[in-house]
Amino acid sequence: MKPMGPIPPAFAAQTGALTIGGRDAAALVAAHGAPLFVYDAALVAAQVARFRAAMPAGVDLHYAIKANPLPVLLARVAPLVDGLDVASAGELARALTVGAGAAISFAGPGKRDDELEAAIRAGATINLESAGEARRALAAGERLGVRPRVAVRVNPDLELRGSGMKMGGRASPFGVDAEQAAALVRAVIAGGADWRGFHIFAGSQALDAGALIETQGATLALAARLAEEAGAVPPLVNLGGGFGVPYFAGDVALDVEAVGAALGEALATRAAVLRDSRFAIELGRWLVAEAGVYLTRIVDVKESRGERFVVVDGGLHHQLAASGNFGTVVRRNYPLAVAGRMGAAAGDGAVSVVGCLCTPLDRLGDRIALPPASEGEVIAIFLAGAYGATASPAAFLGHPPAGEIVV
Ligand SMILES: *Cc1c(COP(=O)(O)O)cnc(C)c1O
Repeated sequence: MKPMGPIPPAFAAQTGALTIGGRDAAALVAAHGAPLFVYDAALVAAQVARFRAAMPAGVDLHYAIKANPLPVLLARVAPLVDGLDVASAGELARALTVGAGAAISFAGPGKRDDELEAAIRAGATINLESAGEARRALAAGERLGVRPRVAVRVNPDLELRGSGMKMGGRASPFGVDAEQAAALVRAVIAGGADWRGFHIFAGSQALDAGALIETQGATLALAARLAEEAGAVPPLVNLGGGFGVPYFAGDVALDVEAVGAALGEALATRAAVLRDSRFAIELGRWLVAEAGVYLTRIVDVKESRGERFVVVDGGLHHQLAASGNFGTVVRRNYPLAVAGRMGAAAGDGAVSVVGCLCTPLDRLGDRIALPPASEGEVIAIFLAGAYGATASPAAFLGHPPAGEIVV
């Protein structure tokens, strides 16, 4: 028997039929079909409120929409946050449909000229990833007769300890090395751009408040040092994000209040050169992951050489991350449950929940304890609100896409 990650607090105490946003999960499947992603907008709003309460004044919240760009969800989240971070012209177009007023910033390597032009036309801030991109952004601004808004993304000489995805402290396709950042700031200002500040993203999926506090402190110090070096005051310092959520057995939720208290102290004693700067934290996963549940119906139950398999109509083509094939080295179990039997006792023996794809990679639960369930019942896979539907190989094997609804 292998352990599962913790069921998120909003669902953990439920017994009997699973409800999401007060709606019966099986009824949602009956109405909308399966497989189905269901996102509870109230849970996202609660995360935003928790962030606001925990963080000091003067710290903006940006939503990194790549975590979940579903338009109806975006329309609910955009009014709650101070900015939207996009990573492509496609995401930019989506952001523009919901938040004319929202500040949009555009990060990511390999921005094409047409993407730079779209960003400049929209008035978005381009987080520059290289000197070459800076040159192309300035040229695009000239072609359009518009002064481009740019920030310099810095590949920091520090990394976020214990983060799931390290983004700093090494050679990187993201941002310019800290050693070259000040020179690039001077160059874009001299080139006539509207310099908006720094973007420093040191890692993702961190659960350790101590590591985040340390990184934010070092990020502030780095921003101050670079501002001094460049001889320019950054209007905005984007401190990155990296707030994680507990996916696996043994994971403990991030103490956001501790992070906020420490950031308050760090900001109160910040270097004079940053006195008039604003600050932002950009979050994707932490805002939306726990609000989403992936519902998939049992198609078959079978035994093979003493092992029980529950075969569902969904799989890694919708929810790659739960199969362990998205950014994890060792496959571990996401929390999942039989939607009609929350809190019920597990049956004898381990059960593997597998998807409908013809590959052994399509395993959504590996030798877990699960209440006995039969064909037609619904399996709920939690933590499906971030990097689910749009981060999975939906075209693989030609199954239809999953439905997505907001409740
Ligand atoms: C993906 C990304 C984020 C969001 O990361 P999460 O782990 O989902 O919070 C934030 N900033 C940048 C630059 C990103 O690329």
